[in-house]
Amino acid sequence: MSKKTADTQPDCDQPITGLLSVTEARQRILDSVTPTKGQEKLAIRESLERVLSTDILSTLNVPPHDNSAMDGYAIKYQDIPQSGQFDLKLAGTAFAGKPFTGKLAAGQAIRIMTGAVIPDGADTVVMQEHVERNGETVTLSVGHQKGNHIRHIGEDMKIGQTVLEKGQWVTPAELGLMASLGIAEVAVNRKCRVAFFSTGDELRSIGEPLEAGQIYDSNRYTLYGMLKRMNVDIIDMGVIADKREAIRQAFQTAANIADVVLTSGGVSVGDADYVKETLEELGEINFWRVAMKPGKPLAIGRINNAAFFGVPGNPVSAMTTFYQFVKPALEKMMGITPTFALTLKVPCMAKLKKNAGRLEYQRGILTCNNEGEPVVDSSGVQGSHIMTSMSRANCFIILPAGNAGVDPGDLVEVQPFAGLI
Ligand code: AMP
Ligand code: MG
Repeated sequence: MSKKTADTQPDCDQPITGLLSVTEARQRILDSVTPTKGQEKLAIRESLERVLSTDILSTLNVPPHDNSAMDGYAIKYQDIPQSGQFDLKLAGTAFAGKPFTGKLAAGQAIRIMTGAVIPDGADTVVMQEHVERNGETVTLSVGHQKGNHIRHIGEDMKIGQTVLEKGQWVTPAELGLMASLGIAEVAVNRKCRVAFFSTGDELRSIGEPLEAGQIYDSNRYTLYGMLKRMNVDIIDMGVIADKREAIRQAFQTAANIADVVLTSGGVSVGDADYVKETLEELGEINFWRVAMKPGKPLAIGRINNAAFFGVPGNPVSAMTTFYQFVKPALEKMMGITPTFALTLKVPCMAKLKKNAGRLEYQRGILTCNNEGEPVVDSSGVQGSHIMTSMSRANCFIILPAGNAGVDPGDLVEVQPFAGLI
């Protein structure tokens, strides 16, 4: 029996008093940023994983001519009788890139290869598997359809058509599409510059020995990885101690050199004060407590022209808040047309513990069962400091605020990491 107390709508994340809902927090963050100005022209290969700054209009018809979709024989449909077998006389060959220049006469067939221009007079292609060939004689049986196996001029793109829109994230498919139009250079938005650092007296960088009570800084690595995949310019400013002056210096430097200042740690009650004081002194800042787990506290604001995002220090919280809040905001700054993160409803194989009140992003493993149907399992212990279950996971299991636990077989909403890049 399910213990769910509320439905599982994705935006049904009613918060407990004093906390912002995830939806509300995400909207406020999006509202607080604007697209970064500036663009550059690049050779199309260099535009991979960049954002188009203009629409792209087709200057060509693609394909540029009617052509064959198969290796076979180009014929005139009206030559084919209604029953029995019939013979056509071979009149020539059309290769891709080397058209047959004559005209097809009645009773003739042209040997044709995939991609070759349909010869004048032909209107149908018959697959070579469906004919018998004896020297110059091509024998067909009935059962062909007029116009078969012909790819038509402009079927993919027509002259003047908008084929890609400003704000498009360029993937290998867009490279191919632009190449098929003969486009050599393309205008893309300037890369966003993100300066990031970790705060915490207990943090040490790789290569430094650990003393009592100290831990290695891992957030700078997860943040590096997530930023790198967004293809922004990255400025790693290292670890900053929990000291007023050090924090002020770092914030100022970061805001001077970057479009975005991203920090982790120091935003929970207790050690938030320096960060809060400093930000209030240097810019505008909001500290929000978001009704989500992991990752309740979040600092959002601005220092001069730079947007400021402060994610919590716990490693899984830092990643979750980055994916759910910072990434959409950065995408807006990069000028990417918003896309909706893919979520699916699938049966959960495990029992999941949860208290009603906060929306939870649990970590899960999405697989197929023996029947080939998608199912999700827990990736293990779910603490906000447990990186192993984050690493094993390939999706978030999104449990709305009202949910009070999941029993095996219950449908849950999952968000595959693949969609989060
Ligand atoms: P904070 O948000 O600063 O209160 O930190 C919450 C927890 O996350 C504490 O246990 C910190 O030691 C840990 N933590 C903070 N920053 C990092 C980091 N960069 N790498 C690994 N753990 C961190
Ligand atoms: Mg701290």
